[in-house]
Amino acid sequence: MSDPLKKINDQLFTDTLERIRGMVGNQASSKELQDQIRGFGTQKGIYKPQGSDYPLWIRQTLGGNYPDEEPQTLPDGSWTYRYKPEASKGGTDMSIYTNRAMLKSMEDKIPIGVFIQENTPGSKHTYKVMGLAFVEDYREGYFTIHGEPIAVDEEPMVSSNIRPFQPYETGIAHLSQLMRETRRKAFQTAVRRIYHEKCSLCELGFTYHGESIGVEAAHVIPVSERGTSKDIRNGILLCENHHTLFDKYLWAFDEDFKVRVTEDRAFRDSAKSNHVLKVEGRKLPNLPDEEFDRPAMEAIRFRLDHFDR
Ligand SMILES: [Zn+2]
Repeated sequence: MSDPLKKINDQLFTDTLERIRGMVGNQASSKELQDQIRGFGTQKGIYKPQGSDYPLWIRQTLGGNYPDEEPQTLPDGSWTYRYKPEASKGGTDMSIYTNRAMLKSMEDKIPIGVFIQENTPGSKHTYKVMGLAFVEDYREGYFTIHGEPIAVDEEPMVSSNIRPFQPYETGIAHLSQLMRETRRKAFQTAVRRIYHEKCSLCELGFTYHGESIGVEAAHVIPVSERGTSKDIRNGILLCENHHTLFDKYLWAFDEDFKVRVTEDRAFRDSAKSNHVLKVEGRKLPNLPDEEFDRPAMEAIRFRLDHFDR
């Protein structure tokens, strides 16, 4: 599969989708989105530009009769989400032009942008940019929306067929700077989501103005060793403190996710007040809900081999 945006013959349409893709994981006010995204100032729900066969984006607002569900995230960073079609007075009406356009997107596999309004105390107008997604299915009164994978030119994984973990990446050199940056953000966003924005080891995670700070997605097999950035099974969310110690191989976790700490005496003396010694020998307290999203065995073994015993 090549980049699905290459299938579209409308430059303005493609440019907007590309911009939404680059904003993946951003939190933005509706004012900012109005300035940057075509149609956002006037439209809620499904936006289909005039003259286009396809919807450009969907905007999920709070408080409607929509399901308030967390998206399910798959190992390639893609996610699925249910979205209710637009209704007329008699209920769901699939003859409405926006709903028909959604079905056309589904048929032709043209991606759409997805924005979800956030429940941020103190602000009613904040949206999470989910990035681009495909309309995968329509049944039982809902569209199933499936986010792009981190590597946008691959088919998104489905939960009934999780592809085996590929620890190493090749061919990154041909990617443009923009695509590398987009992938970096998509990896960060997906790992943050599955760890609920908290450090896996100490569960620390600060929220300020609705945004989480102080945590970052670490690579289990480092990027410098060609460790993959397109599969979240090579990721773990850590606070800056535990990320630094992890990168120095001063702690690791085993196949049962139990924490090991280096025997280095000087380090242990210096780390007396650090949480890492308190969880030594215990299981990481914060892991993804779905087992298939947890760090892969190959990645864990790489760490254990390099761990400073
Ligand atoms: Zn931590």
